[in-house]
Amino acid sequence: MRNFRGRSNAAQMTRTFTAMILLIVLITGASIAFVVGYRLTRNRMDDSSVLVSSLERSIIDDEPDWHHWKQTSPIDTDDTYVKVITKIPGKKKETFYSDNAEDFLAAKQWAIPGFSRFYYSDDFGFFYRSGSESRHVYYETWTGLHDVVHIFRLILLDLLIAMVLCGILGYFVTAWLARRLNQPLSALTNAAKQISHADNISYHETLPVPEHPDEVRDLGTEINQLLQSLNDQALRDHQFVADASHELRTPLTAIRGHISLINRRGQDHPEVIPRSLAFIDRESSRMQTLVEHLLQLSRMDHAEVQLSYQDIATAVKDTVNRYQGSLQQTIELNIATTSMAYFNPESLQQILIALLSNASKYSPANAPITVTVTTQADQPVIMIADQGMGISDANKAHVFERFYRVDQARSQEIPGTGLGLAIVARLATLNQAKVTVSDNQPHGTIFTLHLTTNLVD
Ligand code: ADP
Repeated sequence: MRNFRGRSNAAQMTRTFTAMILLIVLITGASIAFVVGYRLTRNRMDDSSVLVSSLERSIIDDEPDWHHWKQTSPIDTDDTYVKVITKIPGKKKETFYSDNAEDFLAAKQWAIPGFSRFYYSDDFGFFYRSGSESRHVYYETWTGLHDVVHIFRLILLDLLIAMVLCGILGYFVTAWLARRLNQPLSALTNAAKQISHADNISYHETLPVPEHPDEVRDLGTEINQLLQSLNDQALRDHQFVADASHELRTPLTAIRGHISLINRRGQDHPEVIPRSLAFIDRESSRMQTLVEHLLQLSRMDHAEVQLSYQDIATAVKDTVNRYQGSLQQTIELNIATTSMAYFNPESLQQILIALLSNASKYSPANAPITVTVTTQADQPVIMIADQGMGISDANKAHVFERFYRVDQARSQEIPGTGLGLAIVARLATLNQAKVTVSDNQPHGTIFTLHLTTNLVD
């Protein structure tokens, strides 16, 4: 019953359907009552016209033969009353009453408002009154509507019983149906509650998704996809913290080792001090770069950048000219096609500097680096190509991951944090761009930045 509270779907469905069933029964009953009532009343009105015609036919040679009419007329004297007044010129005015008509006319009658020919009398019930005049004879007839009232009562009683039965039956059937329809949703809610109250909130179980109905299955699938992406995010965050701690622990341990070395041997062997200080200086600056990269990445998680439609060649030339001085290698700038694209100039500069710095780190000092601005499949691209050690296909798939460093780079003691390309990839995404990596010929690496000319909201 918990899912059947007043404001639950099931309760609302039950109320609405029961009310609808009652309304349908009421409308059907009322229309039947109206049609039957109208038809019966019309019949009685026709009876009354037939009666007047038969009265008119009873006048022979201006002389009404009432006694003959009374004997031959099939009228029900308990139900129909007749009063006839003759005003034949030269003859005495005469009034004729059918059986019981005088008693009936003596009783008090009320006209029914809105229905000028219908009357009600406490003792005699409902009547239809009609009058006509023909050949100096005035006829007045009252036709009883007892049958009509009786059938009307029966219909109303029937309607009442039907409403009660349909109401009770409708209530239980719709309540059962609503609960049945709601059951998969309730099951999903209960499963979600269990998960949200679980102890380990860093990893979310997926919900059991029913096959039917389609709406609940779709909702469950969507929630599961959401949970899956939350799980992935939680795992990534977990891995990120673990990797960051690991990366920071290595230089910290080394720094502490050298400090302890100075403490132990510094006094007797002062020659170890400058070497250890140089090491501490190098490791602490590596740590500083690492922390800055970490901060940069975490800020970019929820960052948004303003993109504007600009000339690519100008932005690339600007960065290359400014950065050339700090690299050992020469940079050859090749503007094959100059085109426009959407980008944020600051982000583009950051991306170019990171890629140029990598190209410089991982290639010999005498091998020039080429920066090309061109188009590929009608899309503007910027390519940074070096003639260095290159990246194997197996490693290409991972170089954009956080903290990923190819072993060769580590073994050759090339300084780095393994975060540079992760930052580049994130910056590219923020600029609705994409970075890809491929081999240069005969050796080396090409990083290609594919810029966008159509913004997606
Ligand atoms: P790092 O700080 O180690 O350079 P990055 O994220 O910038 O970190 O790069 C990840 C790894 O990809 C590097 O450690 C290196 O092994 C490889 N890499 C990046 N750029 C190049 C390049 N131009 N040539 C060869 N290897 C590269």
